[in-house]
Amino acid sequence: MARNDEFIFALRNANPIDQVMSSYVQLKRTGRNYVCSCPFHSEKTPSCNVFMDTQSFYCFGCGAGGDVITFVMKIENLTFMEAVRELAQRAGMEVPDNNRDQDNGLAQRKQRIYEMNRIAANFYYTCLVKGDNKAGLKYFYDRKLTPQTIKKYGLGFAPDSWYSLSDLLRSKGFSDKEIADAWLGGLSSKSDKAYDMFRNRVMFPIVDLRGNIIGFGGRVLDDSKPKYLNTSATPVFDKGNNLFSMNFAKNSPLKRIILCEGYMDVIAVNQAGFENVVATLGTAITSGQARLISHYADEVIISYDSDAAGQNATRKAIQHFADVGVDTRILRMEGAKDPDEFIKKFGADRFRMLIDGSDDAMLFMLDRCENDIDISSPAGRTKLLNRLAEVLSGIQNPLELEVYTSRTAKKYDFPYDVLKAHVDNLSNKKRLSQNNKEWKNITTQTTLVRDDINPDAVKHKKEARAEETIISYLLRRSGEAASIAQDAPPDIFVTDFNRRVYSALLDKMSSSDNFSISLLADEFSVDEMGKITGMDARERELSITPQVFRDCIAVLRNSRSSNASSDGSISDDDLRNLFNSKKG
Ligand SMILES: [Zn+2]
Repeated sequence: MARNDEFIFALRNANPIDQVMSSYVQLKRTGRNYVCSCPFHSEKTPSCNVFMDTQSFYCFGCGAGGDVITFVMKIENLTFMEAVRELAQRAGMEVPDNNRDQDNGLAQRKQRIYEMNRIAANFYYTCLVKGDNKAGLKYFYDRKLTPQTIKKYGLGFAPDSWYSLSDLLRSKGFSDKEIADAWLGGLSSKSDKAYDMFRNRVMFPIVDLRGNIIGFGGRVLDDSKPKYLNTSATPVFDKGNNLFSMNFAKNSPLKRIILCEGYMDVIAVNQAGFENVVATLGTAITSGQARLISHYADEVIISYDSDAAGQNATRKAIQHFADVGVDTRILRMEGAKDPDEFIKKFGADRFRMLIDGSDDAMLFMLDRCENDIDISSPAGRTKLLNRLAEVLSGIQNPLELEVYTSRTAKKYDFPYDVLKAHVDNLSNKKRLSQNNKEWKNITTQTTLVRDDINPDAVKHKKEARAEETIISYLLRRSGEAASIAQDAPPDIFVTDFNRRVYSALLDKMSSSDNFSISLLADEFSVDEMGKITGMDARERELSITPQVFRDCIAVLRNSRSSNASSDGSISDDDLRNLFNSKKG
């Protein structure tokens, strides 16, 4: 067994998949295994399975799957070696030397950007507190931030200069291209020399969950445009999947997060004693961000501006959180437009009371139903009834539904039965279309309508199915690898991807007594790992006998000998019939 394989095997044993996954999602036991709501797509019925015997996971909804390393790569957006280091640290293991230099170019590029960001953040902070230009410091002091808060967030000031940061980075050995790669500088068409991207702005560093500085937000001090300039997409920064101040909020023992609109709101609320506060990075909340929050909180308090744009954003956020099963409440501030202003005017204690008494999202949505409707006219009342029923039909819990329906009926003087019948009708329709959608997801995954990972499979459906069945068969019988390889040598495989998987499996199985699919994780991408675990997950339903295995070999040999590329497809039903007829 190669040294790397030994280490990967030990690493995987030291990090049981259920333990690692349960720090991100809630696992529910089913027999020896677990299911959970998939962290990689939005769903109401859990379709992500965790298999203890193979230490793997697979989602029948979106096809995500793999071993514990793949899981960490995917959920934390890491390279293979980064995930290995993370898991080694978690288990208190030392990564052996011969594993260290295997980083591909991307991991190195990311390290260089983290390093540049760290230098930039230090530079901006020094300019803020020690620089000649005090405008930045005055801005923060006017906003009543303390020196401790400024330090905690590493706030800074980018001087009004075209080259001060880029010169510093160049002096430390970073190339102009790297500076532009990190989005700290731009390259002009006239010269190849990078110039500073952020100028004359107060700076807010954005830190990820592991403490790396991944980007910056910069705000102007005057009225020039744009008011906020944020780091654009870089290899380390994806604004749709990160949140400002989540590095602090994740440590809060409360399973509750306050969601604000801007950096200054977050910092003001944090300074007032609330660690559990975050903001999106200059965009509306995304489903990825809602999912990230759902790993740390059961409840979100949305604290957006009271203007029309803020209210619209609130409605969208409620939907995203409902999709991932997080309860929402809405903060209604009288006498202030945002939390920053509220705390300054009325103090932290009043803000705490506000949070404890915040309205729930359902009341917010129901109250909005009467907007722009003349509720005294019959047409208006019909419209109102429809809107109310639509909102109420989103409630999952029957008791809650009862409470809100009777309260709403009373408030608008509708007969309870009429409103209830309307709501029930709508929820039934929704449930049906939801079921259809989830079923459709599952069937597209398994019927190879289109296959990005194994493009040959579309042309050779029957063969690809046979190959996948052989791979599944092998995965369950790593001890018999040698005899399986003799019956079904890799060269009878028709599709390239499946042949690659099969050869890699045989190779790993023959060179080690301890096989685990983790040994494939550095050779195959996370999406490919999903596909491989999917083959294994499907076999659990079908249970492949030696006879089926031999039939599959025959399918491949026939295809080779006739040398005709078959477009004959085999449907799921055919396959199931085949299995059933051969059983026993
Ligand atoms: Zn999924």
